[in-house]
Amino acid sequence: MICRKFAIGSGRTEYLLTHALRNMKVLVMNSGSSSQKSCLYEIGEALPDSPPAALWEGKIEWEGGGAKLRVRDLAGHEQTEEVKSADRAQATRRLLGMLISGNAGVLSANSEIRAVGHRIVNGGVEYAQPVRIDAGVKSAIEKMAVFAPLHNRLELEGIRLIEEVLRGVEQLAVFDTGFHRSMPDFAAIYPGPYGWTARGIRRFGFHGINHQYCAERTAQLLGKELSEHRLVSCHLGNGCSLAAIRGGHSMDTTMGFTPLEGLMMGTRSGSIDPGILTFLMRDQKLSGEQLDDMLNKKSGLLGISGISSDMREILAAVKLGNARAKLAFDIFVHRLRGGIGAMAASLGGLDALIFTAGIGENSPEVRAAACAGLEFLGVQLDPAKNASSRGDEEISASASRVRVLVLKAQEDWAIAKECWKLLRRG
Ligand code: ADP
Repeated sequence: MICRKFAIGSGRTEYLLTHALRNMKVLVMNSGSSSQKSCLYEIGEALPDSPPAALWEGKIEWEGGGAKLRVRDLAGHEQTEEVKSADRAQATRRLLGMLISGNAGVLSANSEIRAVGHRIVNGGVEYAQPVRIDAGVKSAIEKMAVFAPLHNRLELEGIRLIEEVLRGVEQLAVFDTGFHRSMPDFAAIYPGPYGWTARGIRRFGFHGINHQYCAERTAQLLGKELSEHRLVSCHLGNGCSLAAIRGGHSMDTTMGFTPLEGLMMGTRSGSIDPGILTFLMRDQKLSGEQLDDMLNKKSGLLGISGISSDMREILAAVKLGNARAKLAFDIFVHRLRGGIGAMAASLGGLDALIFTAGIGENSPEVRAAACAGLEFLGVQLDPAKNASSRGDEEISASASRVRVLVLKAQEDWAIAKECWKLLRRG
């Protein structure tokens, strides 16, 4: 009715109004310990086939006592600012202000935002699917803070800040653990005392938002139904995890109770003999905090190489003949290849292998080295495609029984998409 009235008045007004009615702007908040990423997406009547670029992207990086803010709109306009305070809320308020002001502002009013989607790292056993945030969800996130104190505290801070800055806007939670709630008990429960499960000690798995996105994207790119696939998704960024996915459901994953289990990572050890911890506690009287610090911040690529947690620097040092960098690379690949084998075994076979996130998308060296031992599974790379891949394409040889793909991680888009689906359901 309203639309018709305006259509008579002016074509431009009609366009704007129809656009506003049909399209939904969703702001995604992705809070990390050293950075905060935010993206604004506009989604129409139907989801696009390929992930669209964000209308607006903002990032805060905390360094020392201050924060660096960087925003960018779809047209490429950029704006940077520095906030000389370590107060996270102050920097986040400023970042949200840049949505409607400055060089790269894209909104005339905050009220244009239909909903805000938050990435919540740990939804525990209670939450698998995305939900609208209410008092109950907030208290569940608070409760889960015993398992992931830093993340859950930052996420709650973000939710409260949005309540204050964008009064009345609907807020939704998308859980990074949610996708893995389909894991069978025999994959999710640790073989410790049975009482652990009642205390909430079990395998949650992480990176679920991107693993799920990658499974769906693979089905789309290969033109098959998700239900037909046995996939292993390798999310290799600063944090690394694998997921074994059958019929679109997570059946196993390498991260567990915390994001420390599994593969070797930038600064995290991944799985080690728990006897090492009890030995260090007895022998060197190390506290829980010291062990946490050692395993989360001083291990992995950084701990072994003594050079860096960044795979690019490890590869550069390997080229220069650095023996510890070579050892770090070899351990990384050895554990990755073993992990892929274990995931494939848990699926009873493999149809497609996916590489995603910083290392997965950008390092042909890691992909080639990991696949070099997997010929027995039917994995065969095309060396030229592997060397030149820019993402969202296949890199396996035409004779390869297992299709191998490189996929761009699209966590923020995946969150926006899940919010859109939930809001459309009403
Ligand atoms: P996060 O897990 O923090 O989201 P990313 O997915 O962005 O991180 O991955 C970051 C990692 O990606 C870096 O630590 C770096 O090791 C790796 N990386 C990025 N570009 C390259 C590249 N060209 N070659 C090898 N590794 C790369």
